[in-house]
Amino acid sequence: MHLEKALLRKVGEAIKRFNMIREGDRIAVGVSGGKDSTALMQALMLLHRRSPVRFSLCAFTIEQGKFVRPIEPVGQFLRERGIEWVHYTDSASIRLIDEKPGHGCDICSRYRRRAVYEVARGLGANVIALGHTADDFCESLLRNAMYNGRISALPPVTRSRQGDVRIIRPLVYVSEEITRAYAESLGIAIVPCVCSFKTGTVRRSIREIMDEPGVKASLLSAIGNIDTSRLLDTRYFDAEKATDEPVPELVQL
Ligand code: SF4
Repeated sequence: MHLEKALLRKVGEAIKRFNMIREGDRIAVGVSGGKDSTALMQALMLLHRRSPVRFSLCAFTIEQGKFVRPIEPVGQFLRERGIEWVHYTDSASIRLIDEKPGHGCDICSRYRRRAVYEVARGLGANVIALGHTADDFCESLLRNAMYNGRISALPPVTRSRQGDVRIIRPLVYVSEEITRAYAESLGIAIVPCVCSFKTGTVRRSIREIMDEPGVKASLLSAIGNIDTSRLLDTRYFDAEKATDEPVPELVQL
């Protein structure tokens, strides 16, 4: 299938470029019920069968009281394919909905992060795979530059503070057009989160910029093509090394 090939090629490219998966890894995939994590899970299951690097897979879902439908069918789908799946209800997040119904993403994602580590360690995983896409990388670049005063996006690979868990984002080169179409082609029921229906103005305006033809590919290329001699950060600025490099090709999304 053309879509599956495209997905696997891009995931494979990210894994190779950033050395995401190593021999003996036990990878816990964060499954949210959405199109992105569904595509990620499926891609890793396929690669698991084909890869010369031996690794094992398991999955988890953090319940924060925001799914619009029960998530169990997703878990059932995974278990039928031999994947251990943990559905963890984060009571602190559930209390948060009652106590602070208008809470923001900061606190919600902080609670989720804490739960993610706890569950992954409980599964014996040394790697957590998250379903952030190329769109998420581009959005975070624009958001940080426009509102946080930083040129920064998301790390493709990072480590927990204690250093025992590696976090990987194998969908860095995969656009949401692909995850949407691929998840649809699988016929798996997607379980949306209630927040996906209330897109804020900031997010909407950033996504509108990204929808301009060619902008997403250009932003993604920009993240991987930093010219420190044309920025104002003196930690990296070196006038002696500033050269007139040709512009590299854009990443194909
Ligand atoms: S979008 Fe919703 S679920 Fe996601 S971090 Fe924000 S509040 Fe939490």
